Amino acid sequence: MRPSLLDPLFAAAGTLPGIGPKNAKLFDRLLGRPQGARVLDVLFHLPHATLDRRARPKIRDAIPDTIVTVQAKVVEHREPNTRGRGPFKVLVEDDTGDVTLVFFLANPEWVRARLPVGATRWISGKLELYDGMRQIVHPDKVMDDEELARLPAVEPVYGLTEGLYQRTAARAAEGALKRLPPFPEWVAADAVEKLNWPTFAGALAAMHRPSAPEDIDPAGRAASRLAYDELLANQLALLLVRARLKTIAGRAHVAEGALGRRLEAALPFALTGAQAKALDDIRADLRSEKRMIRLLQGDVGSGKTAVALLAMAEVVEAGRQAAMMAPTEVLARQHFERLAPLAATVGLRMALMTGRDRAPERRETLTALASGALDIVVGTHALFQDSVVFADLGLAVVDEQHRFGVRQRLALAAKGQATDLLVMTATPIPRSLVLAYFGDMDVSALREKPPGRQPIDTRAMPIERIDEIVAALSRALAAGARAYWICPLVEESETLDVAAAEDRAEALRSIFGDKVGLVHGRMAGPDKDAAMARFQSGETTVLVSTTVVEVGVDVPEATIMIVEHAERFGLAQLHQLRGRVGRGAGRSSCLLLYKGPLGETAKARIEMLRETEDGFRIAEEDLRLRGEGDVLGARQAGAPGFRFARLDIHAGLLARARHDAEAAIARSDRLADEGGRSLRLLLYLFERDEAAKLVEAG
Ligand code: ADP
Ligand code: MG
Repeated sequence: MRPSLLDPLFAAAGTLPGIGPKNAKLFDRLLGRPQGARVLDVLFHLPHATLDRRARPKIRDAIPDTIVTVQAKVVEHREPNTRGRGPFKVLVEDDTGDVTLVFFLANPEWVRARLPVGATRWISGKLELYDGMRQIVHPDKVMDDEELARLPAVEPVYGLTEGLYQRTAARAAEGALKRLPPFPEWVAADAVEKLNWPTFAGALAAMHRPSAPEDIDPAGRAASRLAYDELLANQLALLLVRARLKTIAGRAHVAEGALGRRLEAALPFALTGAQAKALDDIRADLRSEKRMIRLLQGDVGSGKTAVALLAMAEVVEAGRQAAMMAPTEVLARQHFERLAPLAATVGLRMALMTGRDRAPERRETLTALASGALDIVVGTHALFQDSVVFADLGLAVVDEQHRFGVRQRLALAAKGQATDLLVMTATPIPRSLVLAYFGDMDVSALREKPPGRQPIDTRAMPIERIDEIVAALSRALAAGARAYWICPLVEESETLDVAAAEDRAEALRSIFGDKVGLVHGRMAGPDKDAAMARFQSGETTVLVSTTVVEVGVDVPEATIMIVEHAERFGLAQLHQLRGRVGRGAGRSSCLLLYKGPLGETAKARIEMLRETEDGFRIAEEDLRLRGEGDVLGARQAGAPGFRFARLDIHAGLLARARHDAEAAIARSDRLADEGGRSLRLLLYLFERDEAAKLVEAG
């Protein structure tokens, strides 16, 4: 069980000062916790920038376009005209010069009261030159001496969501810091000293209360400490899980391969060399006594599904069941719809199970799974509810696509007796990082694409040329093409996001009529499915989508991918999006619409995409480009699955974390010594509960 020491951090965020029911909802959205954000989530939501208010120049010396805090005397009010139009201007001066403060739509009472003529005030805000005159539009602060004394010289700036204010986020973070319990130190004393690291709590405090912009630097001491702690928790979890999976001896699935051969013959294609090789590896694992823990890596479209199906057939031939879990409803459905007809040709009994099943169907599936009347089940995380019992689960396939989580893997694998595990990922991960994400799993990679694919014509164009682009799209559609049109994530606002996609869909509808479909993250599941289905059937021929929706559906007829504001996407993300086309035999194109001017890194990124379609190469390049400091999407968040660790910056800490985790387990494999006990705490802190439970249980 989670130690009670941590309870204050797992309390609802709504218990923090300043978070009422309305704000609580906003935090839930901001922190990606629809089930309810916790104090911990607030604490781990670090500022991504700072406002430095340390500059206290004389007005004459104030540097335009920087934040300044000046002391000045109020000289004159220039009120809006009688109809209340125009800004309220206030002229202030010191002995070196003057500044006009400009308030739009301000309450005049407030301005008069805060800035009475003749008073001396401290004014903080961004100084600008307008027609050669100094001005500050909407000063951030207007203070007397006392208030100035309380002004933090450097303020944290948090990522927000619509309706949430900086001061609310800052106040919540401050409240969350106060809830931090006293932690034992889990990093070896000599390491802490050598690296000059703060404690875990000290690092959080340093970042939420920066005294200089450097304090929040992702490569700085505080951020490194947090990243290390997270990597350590992660490596410990991976090691513990692996050790556990390995202690249960595997079972040999004895099959002669006849079912697989029949299935292979029923496939409309021959396996590629890479697929055949991966399948050989998998079959060897399945047939041996050893428990399989294998990662199947390959770009979208590289043909992982066929490999998974053949692997499942092998296990079924050996008299056992197989399960395949997809991260979303849409993907689970798609897998099922594609696999079921194939499975039927060789008499495999297959069912679909998702969160949306009706009760009678669900009961029927459950009964059939428990009795062994079903061979294969495809589904979402609904598969690992307690009510799901297998007669004899031999193989669990987890299609993680772009997500990572040991949780699902463990839960599904725990459904069977020594169930073999095949994890599939469409994110090609550089070798150096496989360890961070997956621990030491065996790896099969599909680098080779199925034959007959034509290279995708990739181009970049400024968004200003949209008329030309729409004209070209119109010609292509007339010739029978189908196209995706992706609108990017608008920073910090899902509403704006959806609005951008809606606007684009509207604009395209005015040209292409009801041939234009739309999917976005705010739509209800069935509506999403319906929109996807219409695109799949060709009822709509342009699908406008936000990236919130993983356009995971396989539509081989789609040959055009248009990405709006491509400069806001990361290289790997663009690569994934492009992978949605070029799946059929038709010639495909990918158009990256950007808003210029492009920086060096954005140019390099586009150049790279034009040059290659090899996801592994792109992943390595992505890492390199990120390492050069330009983080796309501006989100300073961790790598997928991590809150703090950024593998471009903290990759060096990974080896240390790995080493320390191994050493800790070597000292006490149940983490039962003193150091081990603090590491258990660390596991709970980073929500590796499953792993922590492994060492606690008898
Ligand atoms: P992934 O799961 O890796 O994204 P899929 O398994 O969905 O890829 O395969 C993408 C497409 O390629 C599917 O339409 C599939 O039928 C087809 N395909 C898979 N293997 C081959 C092959 N060896 N030759 C030709 N087409 C293939
Ligand atoms: Mg797939």
